[in-house]
Amino acid sequence: MKPKFSEFKDTLWYATAPEAPATQPLRGEVTADVCIVGAGYSGLTTALELARQGVSVVVLEREEIGFGGSGRNAGHCTPTFTHYSLPDLRKVLGEPWAERLIHRQTRANDKVGEMISSYNIDCEWEQNGYVQGALFPSHLKTLAKHAKTYNEVGARTRMLDRDEVRDITGSSRFYGGWLHEEAGGLNALAYARGLGRAVLSEGGQIFTGASVTGCERENQSWVVKTQRGSVRAEKVIYTTGAYTVAGWPKLEETFRIMRVFVAATQPLSAASQAAVLPKRTTIQDGRGDIYVYKYNRENRIVASMFPMGARGKDPAYTRKVLSDRLKWLHPELREELRWEFFWFGELDMQRKTVPRLYGLAPGVVAMTGLSGRGVPTGSMIGGILSDWALGVSETDLDLRIEPLSKQPLYMNFAPQAALRGYRLRDGLRAARQRAPLPPHA
Ligand SMILES: Cc1cc2nc3c(=O)[nH]c(=O)nc-3n(C[C@H](O)[C@H](O)[C@H](O)COP(=O)(O)OP(=O)(O)OC[C@H]3O[C@@H](n4cnc5c(N)ncnc54)[C@H](O)[C@@H]3O)c2cc1C
Repeated sequence: MKPKFSEFKDTLWYATAPEAPATQPLRGEVTADVCIVGAGYSGLTTALELARQGVSVVVLEREEIGFGGSGRNAGHCTPTFTHYSLPDLRKVLGEPWAERLIHRQTRANDKVGEMISSYNIDCEWEQNGYVQGALFPSHLKTLAKHAKTYNEVGARTRMLDRDEVRDITGSSRFYGGWLHEEAGGLNALAYARGLGRAVLSEGGQIFTGASVTGCERENQSWVVKTQRGSVRAEKVIYTTGAYTVAGWPKLEETFRIMRVFVAATQPLSAASQAAVLPKRTTIQDGRGDIYVYKYNRENRIVASMFPMGARGKDPAYTRKVLSDRLKWLHPELREELRWEFFWFGELDMQRKTVPRLYGLAPGVVAMTGLSGRGVPTGSMIGGILSDWALGVSETDLDLRIEPLSKQPLYMNFAPQAALRGYRLRDGLRAARQRAPLPPHA
């Protein structure tokens, strides 16, 4: 049978992250105040917040720490929302929920920096900013609106003119751009493993190879079951994201999987580094169907994109698209590009893709929908989920607890259709505004 999830060990991060902390499989019954299912950023940061406050916490992970999106993402950490502008988010969530979530998300990188420095997490954290470029003149207006709304809530962002964007990114293709100064980048798996180590150092327990098969109420507690052991806890939190397997009925129906890929070049020469991202920022090319890239510690370009339709499954074609795009954006890049690492991963897409907190039963919640912004979101979400576990009332939580809901059928094809729509829209804009289009657009 075809595995449900993409291969984990193909990633650059798997080849370069420090060793995982030692963890054991679960045997027999363990008791804790809180049991967390899933050792990604959401589960680990929740466990960390709780363990720091003296709460006894157990994390159960069916594979290994960071096996899900947290160990294989591209490593961009930009404290914004991908799918909604701030005014749209306010309409979608309503108040006070929107303002509370906006506050947490826009301060997420302070949280990331604090955890990395408090626990000496060696994860290539570089906070050199994120530029969203404008490949059409009209895009500048939209970006200026984003800059204004984000700055109004305290983010440190600013618009860049054509010369500034060229100085920062090395590319003359952009009409301008939006710089988010607080954004950063990291080695995804090294960060997840470092968070795991931090949880253990605070007295939390993590069991790996512990696939949760169910959760039942017994007397006054919940018993979370795996094949060889169980955890008895007062409260249970599922943070299984796009990599959810069983664990709680119908949790997998709260999202639809969308595949995305990441690739990394060979370490680039000094001349190439001077031509491409000389300030080591992260850049997003500003198209609806985005192309994002940054450096890792070894000076490899790490780029991510959605596969281009059916042909996108062909690694040779996709490597060519990646190279053609990068060389189009940076014609001074003379070096031949070898994409030495190439891997896929899964996103949890929802009709409204914002972090969603589901009330499953009294004392049991689940979180899905972090989708493509999980590095900052998963890092700050621990603050919200730990508040819930500590007994903060539903009305005072920073996320609204809602009933479990199934994705509508159209979500089987809507994300792909949206990508095609973005390509078409960008093509029309480019034609109207006489802006050149990148190859394969
Ligand atoms: C290829 C790719 C690139 C991305 N790039 C970026 C990026 O650059 N920046 C960004 O911000 N976001 C990015 N994302 C999104 C981000 O990685 C995710 O949103 C985030 O990691 C989700 O974290 P999580 O803790 O919620 O879930 P996950 O990290 O997916 O963790 C869930 C865990 O639950 C475990 N689990 C599932 N079922 C069970 C069970 N029954 N019992 C026990 N354990 C279970 C899984 O094995 C998994 O380890 C990317 C994602 C992918 C896939």
